[in-house]
Amino acid sequence: MKKQKLVLASNNTHKVEEILSCIGDKFEIVTLNQIGFEGDIDETGRTLEENSLLKAKYIWDRFKLNCLADDSGLEVKALNNEPGVYSARYAGTHGQHEANMNLLLDNLKTTTDRSAQFRTVLTLILDGKISQFEGIVLGKIIDEKRGSQGFGYDPIFVPEGFQTTFAEMTLNEKNKLSHRSRAIQKMIEFMES
Ligand code: IMP
Repeated sequence: MKKQKLVLASNNTHKVEEILSCIGDKFEIVTLNQIGFEGDIDETGRTLEENSLLKAKYIWDRFKLNCLADDSGLEVKALNNEPGVYSARYAGTHGQHEANMNLLLDNLKTTTDRSAQFRTVLTLILDGKISQFEGIVLGKIIDEKRGSQGFGYDPIFVPEGFQTTFAEMTLNEKNKLSHRSRAIQKMIEFMES
Protein backbone atom coordinates (compact mmCIF):
# COMPACT_ATOMS: atom_id res chain seq x y z
CA MET A 1 0.00 0.00 0.00
CA LYS A 2 1.26 3.51 -0.84
CA LYS A 3 2.37 5.43 2.25
CA GLN A 4 0.55 8.64 3.17
CA LYS A 5 2.83 11.62 2.51
CA LEU A 6 2.83 14.33 5.22
CA VAL A 7 4.71 17.63 5.35
CA LEU A 8 6.08 18.24 8.83
CA ALA A 9 5.58 21.94 9.65
CA SER A 10 8.61 22.39 11.93
CA ASN A 11 12.17 23.62 11.67
CA ASN A 12 13.14 22.41 15.15
CA THR A 13 15.70 19.70 14.39
CA HIS A 14 15.28 17.93 17.75
CA LYS A 15 11.53 17.87 17.36
CA VAL A 16 11.79 16.63 13.77
CA GLU A 17 14.19 13.89 14.90
CA GLU A 18 11.82 12.76 17.68
CA ILE A 19 8.77 12.81 15.42
CA LEU A 20 10.57 10.85 12.68
CA SER A 21 11.73 8.26 15.14
CA CYS A 22 8.20 7.86 16.63
CA ILE A 23 6.53 7.60 13.22
CA GLY A 24 9.12 5.13 11.87
CA ASP A 25 8.22 4.15 8.34
CA LYS A 26 4.44 4.33 8.75
CA PHE A 27 4.18 7.55 6.73
CA GLU A 28 6.41 9.38 4.28
CA ILE A 29 7.47 12.52 6.13
CA VAL A 30 8.58 15.50 4.06
CA THR A 31 10.38 18.41 5.70
CA LEU A 32 9.78 22.12 5.07
CA ASN A 33 13.19 22.24 3.39
CA GLN A 34 12.18 19.52 0.98
CA ILE A 35 9.15 21.52 -0.20
CA GLY A 36 11.36 24.60 -0.63
CA PHE A 37 10.03 26.52 2.38
CA GLU A 38 12.86 28.25 4.23
CA GLY A 39 11.09 30.73 6.51
CA ASP A 40 9.71 30.55 10.02
CA ILE A 41 6.02 30.34 10.77
CA ASP A 42 5.04 32.95 13.35
CA GLU A 43 3.54 31.46 16.50
CA THR A 44 1.04 34.16 17.43
CA GLY A 45 -1.54 31.93 19.11
CA ARG A 46 -2.34 32.06 22.82
CA THR A 47 -2.68 28.31 23.31
CA LEU A 48 -0.84 25.22 22.11
CA GLU A 49 -3.98 24.28 20.17
CA GLU A 50 -4.00 27.63 18.32
CA ASN A 51 -0.28 27.58 17.49
CA SER A 52 -0.34 23.99 16.34
CA LEU A 53 -3.34 24.76 14.11
CA LEU A 54 -1.86 27.93 12.65
CA LYS A 55 1.39 26.16 11.69
CA ALA A 56 -0.47 23.34 9.91
CA LYS A 57 -2.93 25.75 8.25
CA TYR A 58 -0.06 27.92 7.02
CA ILE A 59 1.32 24.96 5.04
CA TRP A 60 -2.08 23.74 3.86
CA ASP A 61 -3.18 27.22 2.71
CA ARG A 62 0.02 27.86 0.73
CA PHE A 63 0.89 24.45 -0.66
CA LYS A 64 -2.35 22.42 -0.42
CA LEU A 65 -0.26 19.53 0.90
CA ASN A 66 -1.32 17.14 3.67
CA CYS A 67 0.61 18.14 6.75
CA LEU A 68 1.37 17.71 10.41
CA ALA A 69 2.33 20.35 13.00
CA ASP A 70 3.28 20.09 16.65
CA ASP A 71 3.15 22.70 19.37
CA SER A 72 4.39 21.72 22.79
CA GLY A 73 5.12 23.27 26.14
CA LEU A 74 6.00 22.68 29.74
CA GLU A 75 3.16 23.40 32.18
CA VAL A 76 4.21 23.91 35.81
CA LYS A 77 1.41 23.61 38.37
CA ALA A 78 2.79 26.09 40.92
CA LEU A 79 3.23 28.69 38.15
CA ASN A 80 -0.37 28.49 36.91
CA ASN A 81 0.75 26.24 34.05
CA GLU A 82 3.44 28.61 32.86
CA PRO A 83 5.54 28.73 30.73
CA GLY A 84 3.06 26.72 28.59
CA VAL A 85 2.66 28.14 25.13
CA TYR A 86 5.55 30.54 25.85
CA SER A 87 8.01 27.74 26.75
CA ALA A 88 10.39 28.43 23.85
CA ARG A 89 10.75 32.14 24.76
CA TYR A 90 10.16 32.13 28.53
CA ALA A 91 13.31 34.16 29.23
CA GLY A 92 12.72 36.53 26.31
CA THR A 93 14.44 35.17 23.23
CA HIS A 94 13.18 32.18 21.24
CA GLY A 95 15.11 28.97 21.84
CA GLN A 96 17.44 30.13 24.67
CA HIS A 97 17.16 26.83 26.52
CA GLU A 98 19.73 27.58 29.26
CA ALA A 99 18.20 30.97 30.07
CA ASN A 100 14.69 29.47 30.04
CA MET A 101 15.68 26.75 32.50
CA ASN A 102 17.53 29.20 34.75
CA LEU A 103 14.50 31.49 34.93
CA LEU A 104 12.19 28.57 35.67
CA LEU A 105 14.45 27.25 38.45
CA ASP A 106 14.67 30.75 39.86
CA ASN A 107 10.88 31.14 39.85
CA LEU A 108 10.52 27.81 41.66
CA LYS A 109 13.29 28.46 44.21
CA THR A 110 10.98 28.63 47.21
CA THR A 111 8.32 26.28 45.88
CA THR A 112 7.86 22.76 47.24
CA ASP A 113 5.20 21.65 44.75
CA ARG A 114 7.37 20.81 41.73
CA SER A 115 4.73 18.99 39.68
CA ALA A 116 4.68 19.69 35.98
CA GLN A 117 3.69 18.20 32.68
CA PHE A 118 4.83 18.39 29.10
CA ARG A 119 1.92 18.71 26.69
CA THR A 120 1.87 18.39 22.92
CA VAL A 121 -0.92 19.26 20.54
CA LEU A 122 -0.52 17.79 17.08
CA THR A 123 -2.56 19.09 14.17
CA LEU A 124 -3.08 16.90 11.14
CA ILE A 125 -4.59 18.27 7.93
CA LEU A 126 -5.63 15.59 5.45
CA ASP A 127 -7.30 16.84 2.26
CA GLY A 128 -8.35 19.96 4.16
CA LYS A 129 -9.85 18.06 7.09
CA ILE A 130 -8.38 19.15 10.44
CA SER A 131 -7.81 16.83 13.42
CA GLN A 132 -5.94 17.48 16.67
CA PHE A 133 -4.32 15.00 19.06
CA GLU A 134 -3.05 15.70 22.58
CA GLY A 135 -0.23 13.94 24.43
CA ILE A 136 0.74 14.53 28.07
CA VAL A 137 3.53 13.24 30.29
CA LEU A 138 3.36 13.98 34.02
CA GLY A 139 6.48 14.59 36.08
CA LYS A 140 8.35 17.05 38.25
CA ILE A 141 10.94 19.80 37.98
CA ILE A 142 14.15 19.05 39.86
CA ASP A 143 16.39 21.85 41.16
CA GLU A 144 19.51 21.12 39.11
CA LYS A 145 20.20 20.32 35.46
CA ARG A 146 21.11 16.72 34.69
CA GLY A 147 21.96 15.08 31.36
CA SER A 148 22.88 16.24 27.90
CA GLN A 149 20.43 14.49 25.55
CA GLY A 150 17.28 16.00 24.09
CA PHE A 151 16.53 19.72 24.15
CA GLY A 152 14.63 22.49 25.90
CA TYR A 153 13.70 21.73 29.51
CA ASP A 154 14.74 18.05 29.30
CA PRO A 155 17.63 18.40 31.85
CA ILE A 156 15.25 19.54 34.64
CA PHE A 157 12.23 17.30 33.96
CA VAL A 158 11.90 13.88 35.61
CA PRO A 159 8.87 11.91 34.34
CA GLU A 160 6.61 10.21 36.87
CA GLY A 161 7.88 6.77 37.90
CA PHE A 162 11.49 7.52 36.88
CA GLN A 163 14.63 8.81 38.62
CA THR A 164 16.32 10.15 35.47
CA THR A 165 15.61 13.35 33.58
CA PHE A 166 14.57 13.27 29.91
CA ALA A 167 18.08 14.56 29.15
CA GLU A 168 19.59 11.46 30.79
CA MET A 169 17.53 9.15 28.57
CA THR A 170 18.29 7.96 25.07
CA LEU A 171 15.98 9.09 22.28
CA ASN A 172 14.33 5.64 22.33
CA GLU A 173 13.72 5.77 26.08
CA LYS A 174 12.23 9.28 25.89
CA ASN A 175 10.10 8.26 22.93
CA LYS A 176 8.50 5.44 24.89
CA LEU A 177 6.79 7.88 27.25
CA SER A 178 7.01 11.42 25.94
CA HIS A 179 4.09 13.80 25.36
CA ARG A 180 5.04 13.98 21.69
CA SER A 181 5.11 10.20 21.19
CA ARG A 182 1.75 9.84 22.97
CA ALA A 183 0.14 12.39 20.65
CA ILE A 184 1.73 10.69 17.63
CA GLN A 185 0.44 7.31 18.78
CA LYS A 186 -3.10 8.73 18.88
CA MET A 187 -2.64 10.14 15.38
CA ILE A 188 -1.36 6.81 14.05
CA GLU A 189 -4.37 4.99 15.56
CA PHE A 190 -6.66 7.57 13.92
CA MET A 191 -4.95 7.18 10.54
CA GLU A 192 -5.11 3.39 10.74
CA SER A 193 -8.73 3.22 11.85
P1 IMP B 1 7.44 24.90 20.07
O1 IMP B 1 6.51 23.72 20.24
O2 IMP B 1 8.46 24.68 19.01
O3 IMP B 1 6.70 26.18 19.99
O4 IMP B 1 8.31 25.08 21.37
C1 IMP B 1 8.17 24.30 22.43
C2 IMP B 1 9.16 24.65 23.49
O5 IMP B 1 8.72 23.90 24.62
C3 IMP B 1 10.58 24.19 23.18
O6 IMP B 1 11.39 25.20 22.68
C4 IMP B 1 11.04 23.73 24.54
O7 IMP B 1 11.49 24.82 25.30
C5 IMP B 1 9.77 23.20 25.19
N1 IMP B 1 9.61 21.78 24.88
C6 IMP B 1 8.68 21.20 24.09
N2 IMP B 1 8.83 19.87 24.03
C7 IMP B 1 9.91 19.60 24.79
C8 IMP B 1 10.58 18.39 25.10
O8 IMP B 1 10.26 17.28 24.65
N3 IMP B 1 11.63 18.53 25.93
C9 IMP B 1 12.02 19.71 26.45
N4 IMP B 1 11.46 20.86 26.18
C10 IMP B 1 10.39 20.81 25.34
